[in-house]
Amino acid sequence: MSCPPCPRCQSEFVYQDQSLFICPECAHEWNPAEAAAEDAVTVKDANGTLLAEGDKVTLIKDLKVKSSSIVLKIGTKGVIKRLKEGKDHQLDCKVDGAGDMMLTAQFVKKA
Ligand SMILES: [Zn+2]
Repeated sequence: MSCPPCPRCQSEFVYQDQSLFICPECAHEWNPAEAAAEDAVTVKDANGTLLAEGDKVTLIKDLKVKSSSIVLKIGTKGVIKRLKEGKDHQLDCKVDGAGDMMLTAQFVKKA
């Protein structure tokens, strides 16, 4: 069974003890299942519903598009192409009538 290198000191002498990985060099212990969960991007819409790539979303307010005169009207639909970590503009969307753009998750709801 091969173990990953220590995420803290990059040691290759990590060993496994039940569900934990343990690094003998810096004494770091971690649970690979929890680490994976933290890595996953979780983005929620205005209602607190988890969003995923491929989800259809609807705007819940008019949004002015930065550096253009376009205003996306409330009710405009889009499809999430990619999710990104962050406080805003987490959704890389293809928006009906406007093309690809980054939307902020709190301004949409899952359709
Ligand atoms: Zn270590």
